[in-house]
Amino acid sequence: MQPWYQTLEEKIKKCKKCPLHTGRQNPVVGEGSLEAEVMFIGEAPGRWEDIKGKPFVGQAGKLLDSLLQEAGLSRKEIYITNVVKCRPPGNRDPRKAEIEACRPYLDEQIIRIKPKIIVCLGRHSLKEVFRKAGLRPPRITDARGKPVNARVLGIPVIILPTLHPAAALYNPNVKSLLQEDFKLLKALLKGASQKRLS
Ligand code: URA
Ligand code: SF4
Repeated sequence: MQPWYQTLEEKIKKCKKCPLHTGRQNPVVGEGSLEAEVMFIGEAPGRWEDIKGKPFVGQAGKLLDSLLQEAGLSRKEIYITNVVKCRPPGNRDPRKAEIEACRPYLDEQIIRIKPKIIVCLGRHSLKEVFRKAGLRPPRITDARGKPVNARVLGIPVIILPTLHPAAALYNPNVKSLLQEDFKLLKALLKGASQKRLS
């Protein structure tokens, strides 16, 4: 474990910067490789994530696992986190003040891990990542599946917005759009590794 990550984990475990700390069982810092080329950013922990302290371990997580598998990726080689690290009560949307309070943690994760591709899972993530890039956030229905070359906190990355896997649980149309976007991710990754070889 790298020292910066241990320090970050300790800070988040003690964090009381926003009201979400009162309802949490466990904060969810994130999980995966600190050398990952791809970072997935979701919205906030849900019930199971709060219980286990890990991102995307509930129903939406199962779907994410199958999408990753289709893209030829394992959880070990990617990094997954969320815009806010503690579960909002009843899984409501995170509020502006909560997102702001939690922002420095995600900023540090992005700056230290320096991913080549950031996949935004859902509109909260899209809004936050575009903001960090100094770009006006588009509507998710317009933006999904369209990679954007940007500098996020000064780091050159490809932002790939897609839908939130939870939205696909009861909607097969959303699932097929997600599958399309993960296919594109696979192609982007292939392109990135070819560039490194040449
Ligand atoms: N939904 C999210 O946005 N993040 C998780 O970690 C789980 C479900
Ligand atoms: Fe701190 Fe973020 Fe949890 Fe709020 S959501 S208490 S800012 S770690």
